[in-house]
Amino acid sequence: MKRRSSEVEAALARIDSESLRRERRTIEAFVEPDSRVTVRANGRQLLDFSSNDYLGLARHPDVVAAMSDCAARCGAGSGASHLVTGHGAEHARLEEELANFTGRERALLFSTGYMANLAVISTLAGRGEWVLLDRLSHASLIDAGLLSGARFRRYAHADAAAAESALAGLSRGAAVVATDGVFSMDGDIAPLDALARSSRAHNAWLVVDDAHGLGVLGASGRGSIEHFGLDPDRVPVLVGTLGKALGSFGAFVAGSNDLIELLMQKARSYIYTTALPQPVAAATRQALRIAQREGWRREKVLALTARFRSAAARSGVELLPGAEPLTPIQPVVLGGSKAALAAQQELLDMGFCVVAIRPPTVPRGSARLRVTFSAAHSEAQVDALAEALGVICDRHGRKVG
Ligand code: PMP
Repeated sequence: MKRRSSEVEAALARIDSESLRRERRTIEAFVEPDSRVTVRANGRQLLDFSSNDYLGLARHPDVVAAMSDCAARCGAGSGASHLVTGHGAEHARLEEELANFTGRERALLFSTGYMANLAVISTLAGRGEWVLLDRLSHASLIDAGLLSGARFRRYAHADAAAAESALAGLSRGAAVVATDGVFSMDGDIAPLDALARSSRAHNAWLVVDDAHGLGVLGASGRGSIEHFGLDPDRVPVLVGTLGKALGSFGAFVAGSNDLIELLMQKARSYIYTTALPQPVAAATRQALRIAQREGWRREKVLALTARFRSAAARSGVELLPGAEPLTPIQPVVLGGSKAALAAQQELLDMGFCVVAIRPPTVPRGSARLRVTFSAAHSEAQVDALAEALGVICDRHGRKVG
């Protein structure tokens, strides 16, 4: 407990001494009409390569219109939790559409992915039971494990054999195996087919948080599970977020009728919080329609990613191995936090906003520039970034060839 102000000061000084101070930059305006790629911050124009707006839908005029039309009809806020009087027609329709989209019996909306993960893990794993997590799982899955009071073990990153041997080694078995579909800071994909086999064999729930796969991967954008061609029943619990490829805000859990009913009855992060505003649900419904209708968005963001990888290789920039499938998350690992901060600043000076990600978000010694792409970027913008990174990686000693 840091009660005294001197202790608070000392804690902040420690953060600074490790180059771990986090800072916000205020985006003052968006420069182009329908995209959030070109932004103004600190009076400067920057190209944003750090958002999760993979399909370029956050400022799509139809999505924005759906939100404002709904706000005119329903108001800005929901006024109550879902189980009181906050649940509206837009929520109900969106839940049905998300259930259809993901091929599951039912879906349940949450205000954030963080809260959806808290709900799932604490409902499915009781005190003293085991939860198995990938070592690089998102912080919300880790916090969910802590909150649930379950015991948890982390297996080597994306290593299905390690997960299987951890499952086999637990005398009482595990209640839950949970993983990101696409890992948020590395951009690689979990071995879902093998994890589905092991989880079923050991009678554990498999929870996949597909925050970064949904809308982007799979032949029709249904995410990592579609990429592996897995039937929905092989992954009984799917968590999706709405603030990334779908460009709005919020999250959902999709699964069987009974699972969703139990979450509704038990999950404290569902019950004790105000419902997502209906205009957000209306915007999401529109975004989901566009994402399904306009497959070119998915193709474009993946083509831009492939283009970036080739251009970066030509500039000598070291990327993580290009595992299949490609995803729009392409980190440049620099190592130390100080180097990552310096590289971030140099890129800002060149007109690019690429945020440095440091511990504890990523393991110590693997601070990085997390580069992400959007269907709203152009080829010329991607080429310019690859060139700028070539100059910067040269200076920070991470240039190959
Ligand atoms: N899961 C993953 C894998 C994420 O990357 C994030 C967001 N960064 C979340 C969950 C949390 O989602 P939200 O932002 O909706 O809370």
